[in-house]
Amino acid sequence: MTSLWNHPDFDDHEVVQFVADEASGLKAIIAIHSTHRGPGAGGMRFWHYPQPDMAVTDALRLSRAMSFKNAMADLPAGGGKAVVLAPADKAKTPAMFAALGRAIERLGGTYVTAEDVGITVADLVAVAEHTRHVSGLPADAGAAGGDPGPHTAYGIFLGVKAAVRRALGKDSLVGVHIAIQGVGSVGGGLARLAAGEGARLSLADLDTSRAAALAAELGGAVVSASEVMAIEADVFSPCALGAVLSEQSIPLLRAPIVAGGANNQLARHEDGDRLLERGILYAPDYVINAGGIINVVLEHFHRATADEVRGRIEAIPDRLDAIWQESERTGRNPADVADAMAKRRIGR
Ligand code: NAD
Repeated sequence: MTSLWNHPDFDDHEVVQFVADEASGLKAIIAIHSTHRGPGAGGMRFWHYPQPDMAVTDALRLSRAMSFKNAMADLPAGGGKAVVLAPADKAKTPAMFAALGRAIERLGGTYVTAEDVGITVADLVAVAEHTRHVSGLPADAGAAGGDPGPHTAYGIFLGVKAAVRRALGKDSLVGVHIAIQGVGSVGGGLARLAAGEGARLSLADLDTSRAAALAAELGGAVVSASEVMAIEADVFSPCALGAVLSEQSIPLLRAPIVAGGANNQLARHEDGDRLLERGILYAPDYVINAGGIINVVLEHFHRATADEVRGRIEAIPDRLDAIWQESERTGRNPADVADAMAKRRIGR
């Protein structure tokens, strides 16, 4: 029998809490990977999993990635994540969010939640009625807070520019062709910023009307979600869900750079080597997509200003450059280099 202890994604997580609330029908998992640097901070995902085991895998992998992300962003926070097993119709009720709030409160501040896929600011306002340990709440003008998506998008934009500078020797995005997979909060934000600097866009989304509307607004092309990875471009930017870079998909890539916002982009650890062997410059996902959590953590722990948040996000390109330089010096792939740096920072 498999148990959590020998689950392939169990990495000495400090807490894995299964939450069930019969009255509201809520089923959720809250995983805290590490509190070495501070409370485990990371968003709440609301997703329908065909098999509940997939939610366990997501909670374990995403919370570990948050430990690494927060450490690499120099934040005073550990890593955690909440995963809600949404019903097939993805219906949300106030009672579910109340039960979640109570579960988070019981953890006594060792986990601080925020937005992730499927969760809005309004949902978090409902959770915040039952616990103090919530960030990503509506903010006053000039203060940190609110939807982390635009902050994440800004960090990705700066990271894409750093990758273009390094791999293509170009200081601007004028004429640079970026293929974006998923044009929601993060991918759409990246598209707008990149278009503002003269980039050429190819946009794909499972929701084709969303891609079409953005392409019409910004002047890009729409490509199908199944083809976006394989089109000829300067940058492939995965901004949808994870595990898109795999043994099967990496040989199909025709872009010299992979830099995007999705979490857990590598299907398996070895895929970092596969990208390196193909000469593709990879921006480790949790380093380039830290803008949102920088906003979340600075809001919650420091009541920081929006300018302070922006300044911290603008440090992302230097961090990527340090990783790429070490990768070049040691021959290790950038994902491995980032993991080693992050592990040192969380005392593992
Ligand atoms: P979102 O729900 O706003 O947008 C995701 C978009 O991707 C949707 O439009 C969806 O239709 C599309 N999509 C899903 N599967 C697809 C596929 N196979 N091909 C093409 N399109 C597909 O979510 P978001 O907030 O933009 O997050 C996107 C990714 O970035 C997620 O992996 C998330 O975990 C990660 N991320 C988000 C933030 C943030 O601040 N929002 C921070 C860090 C990481």
